[in-house]
Amino acid sequence: MTVYLNGRWLPMEEAMVPVLDRGFIFGDGVYEVIPVYSRRPFRLREHLRRLQYSLTAIKLANPHGEAEWTALIEALIACNEGEDQYLYLQVTRGPAKRDHAFPPVVRPTVFMMSTPLLPPDPVLKQEGVTAITAIDNRWLRCDIKSISLLPNVLLRQLAVEVGAMEAVLLRDGFLTEGAASNIFVVKDGALHAPPKDNLMLAGITYDVVVELAQADGIPVHIRRIAEAELRNADELWLTSSTREVLPITRLDGKVVGNGRPGPLFARMDALYQAFKATTMRGG
Ligand code: PMP
Repeated sequence: MTVYLNGRWLPMEEAMVPVLDRGFIFGDGVYEVIPVYSRRPFRLREHLRRLQYSLTAIKLANPHGEAEWTALIEALIACNEGEDQYLYLQVTRGPAKRDHAFPPVVRPTVFMMSTPLLPPDPVLKQEGVTAITAIDNRWLRCDIKSISLLPNVLLRQLAVEVGAMEAVLLRDGFLTEGAASNIFVVKDGALHAPPKDNLMLAGITYDVVVELAQADGIPVHIRRIAEAELRNADELWLTSSTREVLPITRLDGKVVGNGRPGPLFARMDALYQAFKATTMRGG
C-alpha cells in the first residue's frame, strides 16, 4: 500500500511523523474520508469544500488548492489497487514545541492513504442493523471534522460492546447524529433529519440522500427531532460515506417499525445505487 506524506509517496511502514506533531500531542487537525467507485472519487468537490470548512474553523491554512488536492487524490487512487477504495486524508498543525498556543511558524502535516472499499454486506440491507441510544457528550463544534475523536470512539465502543453497529446520539432530548454517521427518521411516508448545525457533522451522504429524496418527490423535513419521535419512527436509517444508507431495525433492543427494513429504505437504496453508477460512468 502506497501512502502520501508531506510530498512523498511511501510504503505505509515507512511513513513516519515526529512525536511532537500536534496531531499526536493535541489531536490538532482535521480529516476527510472520500469513497472511490470504479476508480473515480465520489462527490470530491463537496469533500474538499468540507475540508476547507474544517480547516477554516480551526484556523489552519489549507496547504493545497482544489486543483492540487485533486491531482494528489488522482495519484493516490492510481497507485493503489481496487476499483472501489476509500481515501483517508488528514491535515494537522504539524510538529512544534509542545505549547497549546499555535506555533509562530506552522508546517502542516499532510497524510493520505487508501483502503479497499467493500460494499455493505447485503445481509445488512436485508435484515437491518441494530443500534443503541447514548447521551451525546461531545463538544459544541461537531460540525468540524476533527481528528480529536475520543468521544466518538468511546460512544461507538459502547455500541460494539452490546453487539450493536451504531450509537445514536441524543443531546438535551433531541437527535443529533450517530457516533460515526448521520441518522434519518421516516414517519408516515416522509423523511425527517436534524438541521446541519454545530451539533452534527454535515455528512456528504446526508446531502446526497436529501437531494435524491427531494428529486424523487419524497417529502423531506429538516428540523429538530425529539427522542420520542426517534423511538416511534416507522424507519430509521444511518448514512455514511463507507456504509452508504443502512436501515436500523432495532434500537435499544426494541424493533423499529415492524422490525424489517422499510419501503422507503428500499426506494432510497435503489436511488443511491443508481446515483453511484452515474459517478462511475463519469457523470
Ligand atoms: N457524523 C459523524 C460523526 C461521522 O463520523 C460521519 C462520517 N463517518 C458522518 C456523520 C457521515 O458523514 P459522511 O456522509 O460525509 O461520511
